[in-house]
Amino acid sequence: MLAECENYLENAALISLDHDLNPQPGVAGDPGTGLEVANHLAGYLPLCPVIIHSSNADRAWSMHNELRFAGWRVDRVGPIGDDWIPKLWLPKARELLAMTKDEVVFRKPDDHIIRLKRVFDSLKGLAIGDALGEMLAYRHAEAPHIIRTGLPAGPWFHTDDTEMAISVVDVLKLYGYVHQDALARRFTWHFDRQPDRGYGSMTRIQMREIIAGANWRDTAASAFGGQGSMGNGSAMRVAPLGAYFADELERIVEEARASSLVTHTHPEGVAGAIAVAIAAAMAWQLRNAPENERTRRLFEEVLRFTPQSQVRRGLLLASQTSPELPIEVVAKSLGNGSLVTAPDTVPFAIWCAAQNLNNFIEAISRAISAGGDCDTNAAIVGGIVAACDAGSESIPEDWRTACEPLPFPECNQTPP
Ligand SMILES: [Mg+2]
Repeated sequence: MLAECENYLENAALISLDHDLNPQPGVAGDPGTGLEVANHLAGYLPLCPVIIHSSNADRAWSMHNELRFAGWRVDRVGPIGDDWIPKLWLPKARELLAMTKDEVVFRKPDDHIIRLKRVFDSLKGLAIGDALGEMLAYRHAEAPHIIRTGLPAGPWFHTDDTEMAISVVDVLKLYGYVHQDALARRFTWHFDRQPDRGYGSMTRIQMREIIAGANWRDTAASAFGGQGSMGNGSAMRVAPLGAYFADELERIVEEARASSLVTHTHPEGVAGAIAVAIAAAMAWQLRNAPENERTRRLFEEVLRFTPQSQVRRGLLLASQTSPELPIEVVAKSLGNGSLVTAPDTVPFAIWCAAQNLNNFIEAISRAISAGGDCDTNAAIVGGIVAACDAGSESIPEDWRTACEPLPFPECNQTPP
């Protein structure tokens, strides 16, 4: 049910849950519990009423509370006697269904599934970059050598960059656009379960405040004394969003901005998110373009859509920076993320990606070798390059399998 329920949420009118589940005849393994399902549903905004019909009273109350604190309308019936379904369950179901329906707007486009394929490609590249960047950060100067001569066996664990990108993908997959309340809910749901993924201190503060009941609009706006954050967070997680809206560049500006504002309201943070999302979209658009045109055309569109900002000035410089220069020189001029801000990170990461759209290994190697915020740089680069077919195909098979599995089966399968 955990794996499948999301596919049905859009059309669900009522969810009815038991707690104690028995294994299917002949099937070994733990079937899980209803509380796990309640936990899972609590990671989403309320979508429909829920009836809990378990005789396990303690657990039924746990399920009830889990859902109620997450804003769901929930009620219980006791499965007592042979006729509890017509006598108790049915009237309760009718009562709940007669109440006003929760306002949830889904806007999945007709080609939703095709878009998601690009999204999963991009997310996989992002996760591999993130994990490798994290693993090699302390030996970044040797990264190209280590990558050439043999990487440690997996699993390679990803960090906060991928965790937050997973939330962006969760929301696009369910709604077809950036539903900001749902995105805030997904961020905190993932953070609450695995807080030790290397989140930055401001993000940790924001996540804890939202979990404690604050509105994300207030936590985002009050960051850094009311300036809003211009950290890397909104850029590092956004490449899959660019892949989803890859043929609608104007739309990307709005959706990337919406995704940024949930945590990063500073204009530089917003600009960084827009730039990375447009770069990922262009990586996909340019998949069949002549190789010698790709870099120039990617920068043209990124510059066209990125608002005036330090980020954009850095991108202009990046667009004029030769691929022949030593990486230290490039990092000195464009930044390498050591300041952990969008202007210090995004131009360099987009430069690394734009020079190597068909060579994932080279793109990631160069990005990591410059030091700085290695996992974030490589996550951005990986998310952009893997949005291009050639880039995704150039990811070594053993890298895919060494990388910690992602919560989307499509990301863990070997491409044909
Ligand atoms: Mg990280």
